[in-house]
Amino acid sequence: MSTTILLFIIKLVIAGGVMFFLYKDARAREHSWLMWTFVPIIVILTPDFIGSVLAMIFIVIMYMFTRPKGALVKCPHCGKKIHDILAFCPFCRQSVKRECLRCHDTVDWEAERCPHCGSMNLTKF
Ligand SMILES: [Zn+2]
Ligand SMILES: [Zn+2]
Repeated sequence: MSTTILLFIIKLVIAGGVMFFLYKDARAREHSWLMWTFVPIIVILTPDFIGSVLAMIFIVIMYMFTRPKGALVKCPHCGKKIHDILAFCPFCRQSVKRECLRCHDTVDWEAERCPHCGSMNLTKF
């Protein structure tokens, strides 16, 4: 097997890994995941091996800087990881936050009382 083909395969594997990571993370954050998932394809077409690997590292760094900040939490309905600021799960479309019926602030799904006013009168879904 020639080195060119071998390097191309290595490049495809790295690009595949990067695409998988970008897809999962951007989708969980509802952050233009369709665009980010396919950005590494441009890099696959770059003929220079070292150049394309550096470009992929650059894409990941760019992504980390521009993505919405915050932790990922588990959706209480489908169990997929989602960004904790979202009110709806991007995967199963169900509500992942409750609303306080007294002060109308959003409350965590697991919470039993509103952290803002102490009311236990929360929406059930
Ligand atoms: Zn879900
Ligand atoms: Zn409240």
